[in-house]
Amino acid sequence: MIEKVTALYDKTCVCRHCQATFSTKRIRTGALTMIHRDSDFYTTFKEQSLNPILYTVNVCPVCGFAFTDQFTSKLAPWQKQAVEEHISMKWQPKDFGSIRKVQEAIVSYKLAIYAAELTDQPHSVKAGLYLRLAWLYRYMDNLPEELRFIAMAVDEYEESYIHSDYARGDKEMSEVRLLYLIGELYRRLEKFELAIKYFGKALAFRNHTIESGIIRMAQDQWQLAREEFKEKKSEQKIG
Ligand SMILES: [Zn+2]
Repeated sequence: MIEKVTALYDKTCVCRHCQATFSTKRIRTGALTMIHRDSDFYTTFKEQSLNPILYTVNVCPVCGFAFTDQFTSKLAPWQKQAVEEHISMKWQPKDFGSIRKVQEAIVSYKLAIYAAELTDQPHSVKAGLYLRLAWLYRYMDNLPEELRFIAMAVDEYEESYIHSDYARGDKEMSEVRLLYLIGELYRRLEKFELAIKYFGKALAFRNHTIESGIIRMAQDQWQLAREEFKEKKSEQKIG
């Protein structure tokens, strides 16, 4: 409980569409105890109700525009018009500024994904939203929905790789990390040939990166993907 008090705080946000000021919760990650990190970087904390991914999305209670800190800071006139027409005019005022349960967080991501598609945000921004939404479904043990959104995330990460916009959505994202992540998401989708291809691209950075942790992970998951692929092929032969 002490953890809860020190980790949660209120942040004032300015809506990037209507300029309204509103309050939203944030988490001080330094106050959390990490339990486990999955191979696609999803982190489980001792107090899961404080997982920072619950609070990534800011939802303007006035106009309904949902965005993250990675969205472009200003909307162009055509973007404003699209938001006005497709979001604000249909919006029933709702406040996402209190403590969020997983279901509310899922709604906040779906709103942000809709806004991101509508305003054509960078691929890396969309990819990050799809992946975090997939993680929320993992948290709820809903594998079909998790895999549905992982498939959308990997499409956007591939686009992000092609267009080199990956540093825009996530300051920690480097090329080798992105290649590894694409490989790992394909492995989870059982698209083993693509997984192996992308792990191979990540491993080509072996002598050109200081991210030795990622290289080790790419090595391990490449091995795993090869084994899983072999297993699947032999199952198909039997079947
Ligand atoms: Zn607004």
